[in-house]
Order: sequence, then structure tokens, then C-alpha cells
Amino acid sequence: MVALTPSFALHLAELAESTGLDLAATSVKRLLVAGEPGGGEAELRGRLEAAWGARVTEAMGIGDIAVSLWGECEHQVGMHFSGAGLVHVELIDPDMGAVVPMVDGAEGELVYTHLAQRAAPLLRFRSRDHARVWTSRCACGRDSLRVRCIGRTDDMLIVRGVNVFPSAIREVVAGFDGVPGLIQVRPVAKGPKQAPPLPVVVEAEARLGLAEEMQRAIRARLLVATKVTLVPPGTLPRTSYKSKLVDWSEAKEGAS
Ligand SMILES: [Zn+2]
Repeated sequence: MVALTPSFALHLAELAESTGLDLAATSVKRLLVAGEPGGGEAELRGRLEAAWGARVTEAMGIGDIAVSLWGECEHQVGMHFSGAGLVHVELIDPDMGAVVPMVDGAEGELVYTHLAQRAAPLLRFRSRDHARVWTSRCACGRDSLRVRCIGRTDDMLIVRGVNVFPSAIREVVAGFDGVPGLIQVRPVAKGPKQAPPLPVVVEAEARLGLAEEMQRAIRARLLVATKVTLVPPGTLPRTSYKSKLVDWSEAKEGAS
């Protein structure tokens, strides 16, 4: 078993492929990914599982509350909450702060309250993690709350009133054949509000019409207009830690 960020797992998979090393032939049978969203996205997960010949499960914690709070079981359908009795978890609307009822499929920002911490308890601590939750019983028998982290609230952009997470765009483009799933969103305006089309740089072997196909797929799935620019594989910065999905270097004050 190895524990690492999904970005680093993908980086090692690319490195292994370029040097002719067959990771699937190694003794690694399980990848525990954590530290950023991505390990729960079907496309990225499938790519990692194929490259490593290993099962991928996710875990998530938050340093201010507890370093490990959520972990996925062998059924791979969201991370189970393991802090019952110690930490209270809520879901809120990140814009309004209103509590979102916990029902299957509900989405919002995770908010935590320490229940048993005496030294420096935190009350309703906003995680900035945007998640989808499930309250129904998992096939493993556990009935604890399950989540999948969709993205960081800080990374969320609003394009004509539609909330967009860069990690969701990555999931759509990673569904295309031969696309490694490395993207960077390049907002033109500072702050979350952006005018369409949203510029997105995608690593892919260019072929006629691919950028337009991706734009259509993103629009169909996420209801947002984008301008996809393809760059050769290996162009975007690699990371040994967490991917930077948004590049603000071209954003200007009041441009939206
Ligand atoms: Zn389970």
C-alpha cells in the first residue's frame, strides 16, 4: 500500500510509463489517496487503477479538526465518517451560510464542531471543502455518513450564476481517450464571478475538433461555456503534492 496525493500518483504513473517501468507488476496493491479532491473522480481513479494495477481508495481529514476523519471502504462509494461522538459535521451553502439538510446527493461546504476536544475546541469551523453526501447505508453495512469532496470552495467559480469547480471540468475532459486529465483554469477576472467563456487549458494530443468536443461535453455536463486550449502533454506544471487547478496570473480587477 502506498499513501500519496492523487496528483503525485498520476505523476509517478506518467514517469513509470516514460521510463518503461510496469507499476502494475510491482507489489503495490492499494493506493490510499488524500490531500486534495480527485481520487474519487471516476476517470482519474480508473486511470490510476489501470496504471498501478491497484485499487484506489480515498481518505480525508482536516488539520484543524482531526488529521483523519473520512475513509473509503472496499466498495469505493464515498468516504465514511469516522469521527462520530468526537466531531459534529454539518453541510452549509457556502454563499449564504444556511444549513443544507443531509440527504442522499446533497451538496455543500463541510463545517465541523469539536465535541470532545478540551484544549482548543472549534465551533462550526468552515473547511472550505465542497462535498456531496450520502446518508443511506453502504453495501459494506456501515450506515455512517459518506462524502465525496468535489472541490475547494476557494476554487469555485461562478459563470453566469452557475457554480463551477475546476475539478469537475477535469473529470469531464479526462473522459476523452488519451487525455491524461491535467487541466488549468485561467480566469480573466479576479474573484469568483467570471464572464463566459471560461478559459481552460487542457493537456492532450491535439486532433481536429477535440477542443470543440470538450467544450460541448463540459457545457452538457456542467452547463458552462468554456474556451478550451489544448497544449502538448507534459506542458502544465507537475507537482509532487497538490495540483494547482486555477492559475490567477492573467486575472484582472473588474474584468468580468
Ligand atoms: Zn462502505
